[in-house]
Amino acid sequence: MSISDNVKQVQSIISSHVQEVEPTLIAVTKSVGVDVANALYAEGIRDFGENRPDALLEKVEGMPKDARFHFIGTLQTRKVRQIIDYVAAIHSLDRLSLAAEIDKRANGTIDCFVQVNTSGEDSKHGLEIEEVVPFIENCKQYPHIRIIGLMTMAPFTEEESVLRETFRRLRHLRDEVKANAYDHAPCTELSMGMSNDYPIAIEEGASFVRIGTVLVQ
Ligand SMILES: *Cc1c(COP(=O)(O)O)cnc(C)c1O
Repeated sequence: MSISDNVKQVQSIISSHVQEVEPTLIAVTKSVGVDVANALYAEGIRDFGENRPDALLEKVEGMPKDARFHFIGTLQTRKVRQIIDYVAAIHSLDRLSLAAEIDKRANGTIDCFVQVNTSGEDSKHGLEIEEVVPFIENCKQYPHIRIIGLMTMAPFTEEESVLRETFRRLRHLRDEVKANAYDHAPCTELSMGMSNDYPIAIEEGASFVRIGTVLVQ
């Protein structure tokens, strides 16, 4: 299928699973070049996800000014400075040293998602569920950081009940943080859902889905 067909198909699947929240589609372009990213742009996509600073900057240079870039991968502290002026949001805030560096390099408020390890798998990045509230309270000391939501990667499985439970857990945690009404952490958003599981994530309230493979293959 063409990029255009892929976009139409994904958008139609998204629409058919929406409950109350219409999610923003982030096209994950980490595995493709500027040409494919621009083909996605031509289909109306404006949000792009990258997990390497160099590749993100390449896309920034080669794409129209109104494209928005989301950093979705492990972010090394020493790379923050390179990307900070070009990101719409960082989806992988997972440690205080990173928060401190973002705060130090920021020229304004930076929207961040706290990455949560909902699967309990050691290999997955992110904070354990019980670490999330104390971590967010700790981030208050960094005036340039605004925590707009939580992000997770579900375990790689086809088992719908496991995926649904994972997304539900993240939503409940989001609701808990949101109810605390922190000034620095409105925490209204949920970044969850990838090619393998986005229909379920949307049913469970995702407000950002991060989709690569099924858009660009
Ligand atoms: C690669 C990646 C995605 C997209 O995954 P697909 O399975 O290709 O849709 C989403 N989120 C993160 C954090 C990723 O690294």
